[in-house]
Amino acid sequence: MIARVVVDVSIDREFDYSIPENLLDMVKPGCRVRVPFGRKKTCGYVMDLVKESAHSRLRDIEEMVNDSPMLDKTLLSMARWMARYYCATLSQAVRVMVPAPVRLKKFKQKRYVSLTDKGEEATRASGAQGLSEKQRKVISSLRDTEGMFLDVLLKETGTTESPVKSLLSKGLVRITRETSERSPLSGKRVIPVKPHCLMSEQSEALSLINRTFDSISGKSGSLGKQSGKGGVVLLHGVTGSGKTEVYIQAIDYVLGKGNGAIVLVPEISLTPQTVERFVGRFGDRVAVLHSHLSDGERHDEWHRINRGDAEIVVGARSAVFAPVRNLGIIIVDEEHEPSYKQEDAPRYNARDVAVMRASLCGCAVVLGSATPSMESWNNARAGKYASAHLTKRVDDRKMPVIRVVDMRMEKGRRGATGVFSGILLEAMARRLERGEQTILFLNRRGFSTSLVCHKCGYVAKCRQCSVSCVYHRDEGVMRCHICGDVQKVPDKCPGCGDPGFKFSGTGTQRVEAIIKKCFPRAVVQRMDTDMTSRKGSYNSILGDFRAGKTDILIGTQMIAKGLHFPNVTLVGVVYADLSLHMPDFRASERTFQLLAQVAGRAGRGEVSGEVIVQTYTPFHYSVQMARRVDFDGFCDQEIEFRKELSYPPFSHLICVTVSARSDDKALFYCSSLRADLIKKVSSKVIVSDPAPAPIKKIRGKYRYQIMIRSVAMKGVADALMECVRVYGRRKDVDVAVDVDAMSLM
Ligand code: ADP
Ligand code: ZN
Repeated sequence: MIARVVVDVSIDREFDYSIPENLLDMVKPGCRVRVPFGRKKTCGYVMDLVKESAHSRLRDIEEMVNDSPMLDKTLLSMARWMARYYCATLSQAVRVMVPAPVRLKKFKQKRYVSLTDKGEEATRASGAQGLSEKQRKVISSLRDTEGMFLDVLLKETGTTESPVKSLLSKGLVRITRETSERSPLSGKRVIPVKPHCLMSEQSEALSLINRTFDSISGKSGSLGKQSGKGGVVLLHGVTGSGKTEVYIQAIDYVLGKGNGAIVLVPEISLTPQTVERFVGRFGDRVAVLHSHLSDGERHDEWHRINRGDAEIVVGARSAVFAPVRNLGIIIVDEEHEPSYKQEDAPRYNARDVAVMRASLCGCAVVLGSATPSMESWNNARAGKYASAHLTKRVDDRKMPVIRVVDMRMEKGRRGATGVFSGILLEAMARRLERGEQTILFLNRRGFSTSLVCHKCGYVAKCRQCSVSCVYHRDEGVMRCHICGDVQKVPDKCPGCGDPGFKFSGTGTQRVEAIIKKCFPRAVVQRMDTDMTSRKGSYNSILGDFRAGKTDILIGTQMIAKGLHFPNVTLVGVVYADLSLHMPDFRASERTFQLLAQVAGRAGRGEVSGEVIVQTYTPFHYSVQMARRVDFDGFCDQEIEFRKELSYPPFSHLICVTVSARSDDKALFYCSSLRADLIKKVSSKVIVSDPAPAPIKKIRGKYRYQIMIRSVAMKGVADALMECVRVYGRRKDVDVAVDVDAMSLM
């Protein structure tokens, strides 16, 4: 037998190794092994076992990294699919599947000490003869326990390891190696909750999901036969309509049939609140996986899942690869979220990978959202996905009233600042009087966006990247939000020397300053990534707000997501147009989604809510349709535009970025890559001319892009991969291929 191994080193091929006698029974596909590689050693995964190799004189696998396989058959097939579809190498694809702390085994497994039967006897007076005082102390500490970790035991008894070792040699204790179960929830008591009695729309959705599960369960390989409603249910439910309750009951059903579940949540919504809803129902059958866990926690959670001790995984993007046994359902909450897309190779979208995994292993998928992506909406419309709708909020709470304020009319008026309309200020004043809470939403960080000279038009830019810097008042610096570079604020304009160098634009800090001036007695809190990069402050800000200690919360995207605060009756969107001005064909979709999500924050309690949207483009359809909460109306207009220009969902959009230290070189290689590519693909594939990327320079490298639109991915992916191999070999240029790109910056 010969093992075909993909090694950790980023080389785009597999290598054959012979399997030594002593490992013959152990080496299986999906196992992680240590192998000699050149003059070094490296690790890798066994992809396949084959009888023959084209190479003679193979080297032996050295040892197993883990006794049992780390990737099952489905995950191995997924890795192959991902590498091909997303134009990545196989080693990049397998790399994302297992968390680094597990893969690299950085953790010494902790030693666990417990009494043997003989040791139990020794705890009874007569048996303890011939033991030292310290040994007796150890024995009595272990008495009536199932054992404890060695370090805990040593601390408790105040001894060194040697008495424990003597006990071991006498056969009174045993030492096993165990992972220490650093559960992210340990030490926290979660109150168990009972299922709600579902409302009629919720029950219909649930029974559709359960039926889908029944019909698909265990039937792998439904891939390609998607017309039969593959096993995907699109759950379109307005915010507060009880989607999460439906997920929970669907999981309950699947668990009852002996299957497991994965729940994907955008990283930003993966709050303790969210996790507790699942733990409250399923207790320690839930494991959590996300990047904020410590390495130890991630290691332990992964093994708990792999052993089958946790059947439900709640996690961010990469949890789609969790080794859940007998997977029955994958839930992707907020399926439209761009954060499901990984920004580095392999640039996968966890939602799409979920659908692929489901079709490979025969399980159901639920895609949930208040504002489904155009891709999923279109799949449902075409009958590829089944769909369920939750149109009412739980308890028939009303959708908030949404008012659009035309800021062009406000501009002429003399008022507070030009940042706030009279209408929004009055509405806030009313909330303060009544003791209700307000959320102000702003899609930007920093005190002001950029430093602009009102005389010569000079804009302060990052030295490395072609973007304007963001002014941070509390530190008195300007910072590049791409590379993090920090510069001191110049006292006069570097362009013309004018001392009247002004801040323009509006950031959360500036909004905070203005609000404090307008409402000196209000308690105002700001929440953005600057604030929350300090550990723990995210939860404390939210905690204060929930407890009613804060009157007005100002924030960025972070507060637009799945949080509920019953006492919030007003949401103000300070400047709705920002996301409309992005150089991206999804700008309208993003704006609509953002407004709908933000609006969903208002009126989640007894009092119905009000949303005030300030904008300079009040008649844009994404603003108008959001005002009317008319999702289908928005999609009907948006889909026309997408169709006309062959944008997704009518094509796959692939963004290829070529970057180099020299501007000319970047453009040259981008152009020649394009020329090569065109020769290889069908004439139906639309390949744009090279253009400077919207952010032309990042970290000192110039960037050019070509956009490819193609109805089919087959053919294009292979041709692109060939180009990447040729151009990627050069040291002086980088080529990044982003299939189904979400961000075009
Ligand atoms: P969504 O995920 O759609 O935003 P949630 O599932 O968070 O909505 O539901 C909003 C609130 O309504 C939650 O507090 C939830 O516990 C409650 N809820 C959900 N379904 C029901 C129901 N059938 N009866 C009573 N309360 C419910
Ligand atoms: Zn920069």
